Amino acid sequence: MRSAAAKIVKEIRIEVDKCTGCRACETVCSAFHAKPRYSSTNPARSRIRVVADEINDEYVPVQAGNYTLSGCEGRHFYQLDGKQYSECSFCRAACPARDYFIEPDSGLPLKCDMCEDEPPLAQPLCVTACLPGCLTYQVRPADAPVDEAREQQALAKALESLAGQHGIEAVIEKLKRFEKAR
Ligand code: SF4
Ligand code: SF4
Ligand code: SF4
Repeated sequence: MRSAAAKIVKEIRIEVDKCTGCRACETVCSAFHAKPRYSSTNPARSRIRVVADEINDEYVPVQAGNYTLSGCEGRHFYQLDGKQYSECSFCRAACPARDYFIEPDSGLPLKCDMCEDEPPLAQPLCVTACLPGCLTYQVRPADAPVDEAREQQALAKALESLAGQHGIEAVIEKLKRFEKAR
């Protein structure tokens, strides 16, 4: 009897500090999903969008996640280096509250499909196009133990950075909201 194929998890890690805002990821993603494939490039059809603040030289790539029928009722704001971003800025949802991740011609929601293809690509195209190394691709067995020490270190660093930017009270308040929503 053949054993079932082991489940694997495919991940794209994003190191925001390395993003230069070149938008090569948007270009190749839209080309890969054009019909016929590679026939056009249009960032409005991309499953990855780069939120940009050129003046402060800050760029955050966001990949399209699930579709949601309605927008969040409550919104809050992030302040980074003096600039305010709405909660929607970094949200992955295709959502009626904004035009992001909505196919411009059909109005259908867009979602990152990890460039699934037959035969499979060695890695997603946005990762290949990202020469600064902001995006990296990792494949691991679904039941592989997560390196908890590394995860904890990364979490601690992220919380420290958020507390420095927004204040510890705002971070605690946000964590409480996440906990309630789980
Ligand atoms: S874009 Fe995201 S954060 Fe904004 S309303 Fe929609 S689901 Fe909520
Ligand atoms: S993995 Fe593929 S589908 Fe997803 S954002 Fe990157 S290029 Fe687009
Ligand atoms: S290709 Fe990489 S560096 Fe360029 S905008 Fe996209 S994520 Fe940022």
